[in-house]
Amino acid sequence: MDTEDKPRTGILNLDVLSCPICVEPFTIPIFQCDNGHLACSSCCPKLRNKCPSCSWPVGHSRCRAMETVLESISIPCQNAGFGCTTKLIYGEESTHEKTCTFSPCSCPVKDCNYTGSCKDVYVHYKNLIHPNPQSTSQRYRVRCGESFSVKMNISDNLVIGTLYKERLLFTVQSFRKSYGVYVIVSCIAPSSPKVGKFSYCITYTIDGHSITYKSPELKKIQRVSFHTPQENYMLIANSSLHGESLEMRICIKKEKRDKTNDIKGPHQKRRAEGDGTIRRTAPSTPGLRKLSYRPSYSDDGQILI
Ligand SMILES: [Zn+2]
Ligand SMILES: [Zn+2]
Ligand SMILES: [Zn+2]
Ligand SMILES: [Zn+2]
Repeated sequence: MDTEDKPRTGILNLDVLSCPICVEPFTIPIFQCDNGHLACSSCCPKLRNKCPSCSWPVGHSRCRAMETVLESISIPCQNAGFGCTTKLIYGEESTHEKTCTFSPCSCPVKDCNYTGSCKDVYVHYKNLIHPNPQSTSQRYRVRCGESFSVKMNISDNLVIGTLYKERLLFTVQSFRKSYGVYVIVSCIAPSSPKVGKFSYCITYTIDGHSITYKSPELKKIQRVSFHTPQENYMLIANSSLHGESLEMRICIKKEKRDKTNDIKGPHQKRRAEGDGTIRRTAPSTPGLRKLSYRPSYSDDGQILI
């Protein structure tokens, strides 16, 4: 009989993985009183180490069994359906998911409902799954560091282009206001450091006179917004406009130092430690190596173990 080798599944109510006092997800260490009531490490000092259920001291003895349970659970990223294979430690999902490279982005084409990772949206757009909203002459397929001409009507609001080397989509948007026009370039991507950092430069020329705008970091957006931008835009005053047409030269630059963020291995770890932020990596959780099953969710959100 080899049934012992096969992982068995069961249902674990997520509530048992939260501190019964503050209801926050447990993190290690977990404490218990002599009667076995649990409390998280931040609740113990707030309770002056007195168990709220039985008044016995709490905060000195750890509940190793519960800590082992916690260590043995890994949760798929919520973007697993979009290609993320990262397994997360219970309670730390949001740390990764805030900057997950696979966070869903929407196709910027009007009335297209396609959603996927930024790379999927790029492939979707590039393969012309829907009729291309721009004529062939206006298909902006560009490289970082090279300037290109953009011709658009202010009322067009939106021009879409591809950074083909980075496999990313970018947008150029115009917003008509009573005093002029805002122009902003954005990139369709989540704000993950792995996507890289970009900036852009717009040169608008009229009657032989040029206005140049150099942006700070280019904004990454997961979907196109038609709200007037609050920052990182160029403002062209009415006095510099001739009718509806906007002709500009745009250059999108990639900041070189971010390339190293894509390198995996010890160098990356050193950098992460050097910039003052704590980034957890999988090898620091030995419990995960012992994992013999793959948790999945039941329909009501419970973990199947
Ligand atoms: Zn607590
Ligand atoms: Zn107690
Ligand atoms: Zn992820
Ligand atoms: Zn689309």
